[in-house]
Amino acid sequence: MKVFFIGTSACTPGKGEETASFLINEHILVDTGWCNVLKLKEYGFAPEKLKYLILTHLHQDHYLGLPQLLFYLGIGKVDGTYSQDWPLTVIGPSEKLDYVLKKTEDFLQFDRFQELTVQLHPHVLIPGKTYEDENIRLETISAKHISGVDRTEKAMVCKLTDKHSSGTVCFTGDTSYHPPIADFARGVPVLIHDSCHSSAAEAAATARDAGVAKLFLIHHPPAENSKKLREARAVFPASFLAEAGQSVEV
Ligand SMILES: [Zn+2]
Ligand SMILES: [Zn+2]
Repeated sequence: MKVFFIGTSACTPGKGEETASFLINEHILVDTGWCNVLKLKEYGFAPEKLKYLILTHLHQDHYLGLPQLLFYLGIGKVDGTYSQDWPLTVIGPSEKLDYVLKKTEDFLQFDRFQELTVQLHPHVLIPGKTYEDENIRLETISAKHISGVDRTEKAMVCKLTDKHSSGTVCFTGDTSYHPPIADFARGVPVLIHDSCHSSAAEAAATARDAGVAKLFLIHHPPAENSKKLREARAVFPASFLAEAGQSVEV
C-alpha cells in the first residue's frame, strides 16, 4: 500500500500548501483539501482514476476541494478527454454528507448543466461501523472533535485495508487526544495523526500506546514543524512529519 501526502497543512494553507489530505494506491482520496484536483495533477496523478473519497468529517477545510473535483470529472466527460466509468463512492460520518453533496451539486448547477453530472455513491458511515465491499475494508471509531465552544462534530478515525494490496493504515482527521485510538490502531504499521487539535506529544503517546511502527504528523502549520517533531520524538522516537509530495509504503 502506498500513501501519498497531497497536503499536510493546517486549516488555512499558505502559498503552495494544501490542507491535510492524502491519496492511497492512487484511487482512494482521504479528504479533498482546498484544491486537491489541481494538486493531484501537479503530482502526476489522474483525478479521474479515483474510486473512493473518504471524508473524515464534514468541516469545510476537509471538503472545500469537492466542487472542483466534481467539475473536473464532469467536464472531462463532456469533452471526452477523460472519463470515469464508475460512480465515485463518497464515504463520510454524518447525515451532513448528503447535505454537502446536494449543496455541491446545486453550486455546480447540475440541474441546468445535466451533462456535467457525476455519478456518486454516497455512504453515511456512523463512526464505530465498518464499510466493506470487494475492494476495501474501512473500520472506524469516533474521533474526539469539538469546534467552536461546544459544537461536537461527528468525525471518524479510520483503519483502511485495500484488498488488492497488502497493508493497512490507520488515520485520523481532526481529533483531540483520544486514548481509544491507541486500542483501535494496535498492530497497524503506520498511524497518521492530527497534530493540530492534539499536541504532537499526545499524538506520539497514542502511537506509542498502539505499538505502531511509525507515526506521521499532519494538519499543523508548517512553521511549527521542527517544534512538533521534537515534541513527538521525545515521546515516540519513530515519529515523522508528513511531507506534501512524499509517500510512505505501508
Ligand atoms: Zn474539523
Ligand atoms: Zn481540520
